[in-house]
Amino acid sequence: MNTPLTVTVKTPVSAIARKRLRILFGIFIFTLLLPAYASSATANNDADPTKIYQMVYSATLDPKSGQAHVSVTLKQHRQLLRSIEFIMPKERYLNIRPTSRIEINGDRVAWKPLREGDALHFDFVIDHQRSNGKMDAQITDTWALLKLDYLFPSSKSRFVKGATSNTSLILDGPKRWSIETPYGVGAGQVFEVDNTGRNFDPPRGWIIAGELGVRRESIGARRISAAAPLGTGFQANDVLAFLRWTLPSLVEVFPDTPKRLLIVSGSEDMWRGGLSGAASLYLHSDRPLISGNRTSPLLHELFHVASGLHSNIGADWIIEGLAEYYSLTLLLRSGGISAFRYNKSFERLAQWSTDTPCIATDRSKGKQTARGALVMRALDAEIRSETGEKASLDTLVQKLMHDNQDITNSSFRAAITELTGAPVRALSDCP
Ligand SMILES: [Zn+2]
Repeated sequence: MNTPLTVTVKTPVSAIARKRLRILFGIFIFTLLLPAYASSATANNDADPTKIYQMVYSATLDPKSGQAHVSVTLKQHRQLLRSIEFIMPKERYLNIRPTSRIEINGDRVAWKPLREGDALHFDFVIDHQRSNGKMDAQITDTWALLKLDYLFPSSKSRFVKGATSNTSLILDGPKRWSIETPYGVGAGQVFEVDNTGRNFDPPRGWIIAGELGVRRESIGARRISAAAPLGTGFQANDVLAFLRWTLPSLVEVFPDTPKRLLIVSGSEDMWRGGLSGAASLYLHSDRPLISGNRTSPLLHELFHVASGLHSNIGADWIIEGLAEYYSLTLLLRSGGISAFRYNKSFERLAQWSTDTPCIATDRSKGKQTARGALVMRALDAEIRSETGEKASLDTLVQKLMHDNQDITNSSFRAAITELTGAPVRALSDCP
């Protein structure tokens, strides 16, 4: 095994998101699943040093078993963290121990650590198929590609009021494997401690490990890495060139785009699309940078990464419509396509989705997303006209990001009305 990579987690989220999280997470009950429980403010900067505990997330990638051997270690000098409940479906999380301090209830595993600190161990099955049978996580003899979000499962925790954590991540793998994470590169480099003071903050985003081809580029203040297993045909240079040209337009709308972005790709048999993560995204090597209809799968996923917007209760068409709208519009703004071709693209989306109504959905795709993109274009025109060009869809999106709430169909309408002071016409056929 290599000397383990130690990464002190620099949370790969935007500054705005961090500011909001500081407000959200300094409380007695913190939960990734139910963020609405959170309230008052605490940051590590201001934290009582007697109320800081350490969380160490470590995993060893093991190609022989197809698993990662995982530990979550808590260091505390007194009982600051009282319990953690993880979501751990039993087909993917094996051999959870010590059994004496856990309680398993279906997919839920409640861990009550010892007051002086403790460690939870388990084995994580890396290979994972999506509903269409395509893999979105995989380990082979020479590489592994997976999301930290599942390696370290989502959880909610109970801790003493005012307690905050310092979090670190340690990854290991077979000899000669290198490791790329949203937090940095796996050559034993240690990253600066993040003092943003989230109370319980597991590492997130895509990682890739193994014998890799990696290309790196700085674009403005951003460090971009594009990585894939050697010999898989991923055009990392093309991706970086495309980003040199489009990223400045993205950053103009989303100034808090993470400072470090990791773009990963895997083998031919994996999921043939894009999947976003914290400060990172996955893109199949077959996916073009610009599709036949001029939308860009890469810019679409980057919208998700940079905006961090999520939806709830049937509002996925809004998020996907925005992503698709911006994947075209950022290409126009960066000079990648002419206004003529931009307009033609919307005409094609309109023809393609002509019989597709705008409906509430938790899983927008294809024609529904095309319909969503058309609605967003109409909405941009409406906001500009109602506000005398003082605001646009960009303003609305920035407001939604600032609000830091999962978007619902009604909250979306309310945010528009707040911006324009008028009823929303562009959404007349929408939920
Ligand atoms: Zn999307």
